[in-house]
Amino acid sequence: MLGSVVHFGVQFIQRLRTYFTNGVTVEGQLAKLTLSKDDLIKQMKLITEDMNNGLAADEETRLKSSIAMLVTYVRNTPSGKESGDFLALDLGGTNFRVLLISIEQNHITMDSKVMPMSKDLMTSDAVTLFDYIAECICNFVKEKNVQDKVLPLGFTFSFPVKMLSLTSGVLVKWTKGFTASGVENKDVVVLLKEALLRKKEYMIEIVGLVNDTTGTLMSCAWEDQEVTIGLILGTGTNACYMERLENVAKWTGKIDEPKQVIINTEWGAFGDNGSLDWIRTEYDREVDANSLNPGNQIFEKMISGMYLGEIVRLVCVHLISKGLLFGGLCTEKIAKRENFLTKYVSDIESGQPERINKVLQELGYDEQKAEDVDRLKQICHVMSERAARLASAGLAAIVKKIGRSCCTIAVDGSLFKKHPKFKTYMESTLSELLPGNTIKLMLSEDGSGKGAALVAAVASQQQT
Ligand code: ADP
Ligand code: MG
Repeated sequence: MLGSVVHFGVQFIQRLRTYFTNGVTVEGQLAKLTLSKDDLIKQMKLITEDMNNGLAADEETRLKSSIAMLVTYVRNTPSGKESGDFLALDLGGTNFRVLLISIEQNHITMDSKVMPMSKDLMTSDAVTLFDYIAECICNFVKEKNVQDKVLPLGFTFSFPVKMLSLTSGVLVKWTKGFTASGVENKDVVVLLKEALLRKKEYMIEIVGLVNDTTGTLMSCAWEDQEVTIGLILGTGTNACYMERLENVAKWTGKIDEPKQVIINTEWGAFGDNGSLDWIRTEYDREVDANSLNPGNQIFEKMISGMYLGEIVRLVCVHLISKGLLFGGLCTEKIAKRENFLTKYVSDIESGQPERINKVLQELGYDEQKAEDVDRLKQICHVMSERAARLASAGLAAIVKKIGRSCCTIAVDGSLFKKHPKFKTYMESTLSELLPGNTIKLMLSEDGSGKGAALVAAVASQQQT
């Protein structure tokens, strides 16, 4: 009797709560954000379609694809037999670096210098920007006392570039706060060469232009011949892989040995043609609507470091508004856009009480209830796992496409490096989607520096 009264009471309170929350429950919201194996299989099919269309010979088919599938002209991974001294240049954010890299068998030594990249330079013009870069290179070369040697240089330029050959590529569009005039639609290698000539620097030979994804693949491939895919999980997300030329219908060069080339998928844009709409939620739409580039980089916005914290914040704010989290208290801090850093997601996922408390305090919650901490953990878990599963389904599609049952994926980027569980989520998703395959995730150490030097090494060996 007492049992049924209690049961009735509990049911009544639950119904009342559901009434006031318009049917929203924590479990219900999180269920919408949880991807089943079938969802991922559907996603694999869609991204495979886009990859194939992106490689097509005819433009009409290519335009159906949301991903560019850019040909990099990098044809070989390192054999491990490369040797020599190389320069590398890494430009793609607030700092840029010049590196001197000595490759000997089984051993790479690197010496690098980080140079500041001021807002003034970022927003200047082509001559000012590239003269500064050239000057930094010349000073560095003198400092290291290698000015009298002919040095091949690999240039990592992590902006969208349409490659014309391994040593020429046109900047499609500046991103990440760069606006220097006279660079868009220009060949950035020509701009750098001209600047080096203005400095009367004749000993540096630019032998390769790459992006960070290709650099990552190359740097890991030097250590492990099984590496055939490169992945970035940092501010953004992107992947590249070694493809057989016979599958690259849009390849216009000779079909010569080695009959392969690295394809830079630019998969962050997957879904820009609406193909992910069935899986996107109100939170994804809001992140996109508030972004600097609405309608673009849809896949990236569901995964990468620049957005993951913000999605978690939006879920929290929604649940708070329904009285389902923090007793309905929305602090000024959590209410503000981009205030939930992706680093916080890592802190919460770490499970360490001190780190969790610190995050809650930073968000203005001094009083902490176990129930709220549990819910926050659940939210961060579900969102991180969704991101990891989406990226893994993309990788599984690539693995299937290249027909490998055993391969290593080189990964770079702070989201992968610093999130305590991202790698585990990815590993379990990969074995769920590719049972029986042996897929390893390998952390890349400085892909954009070492990788550029290795591209230079492979390219200069190809020339001889
Ligand atoms: P980039 O991609 O620009 O080369 P990073 O690989 O360092 O740079 O990635 C930067 C991104 O990593 C930022 O968007 C940031 O949100 C995210 N990030 C930084 N620290 C952490 C962390 N501790 N856990 C998860 N993500 C992080
Ligand atoms: Mg990076």
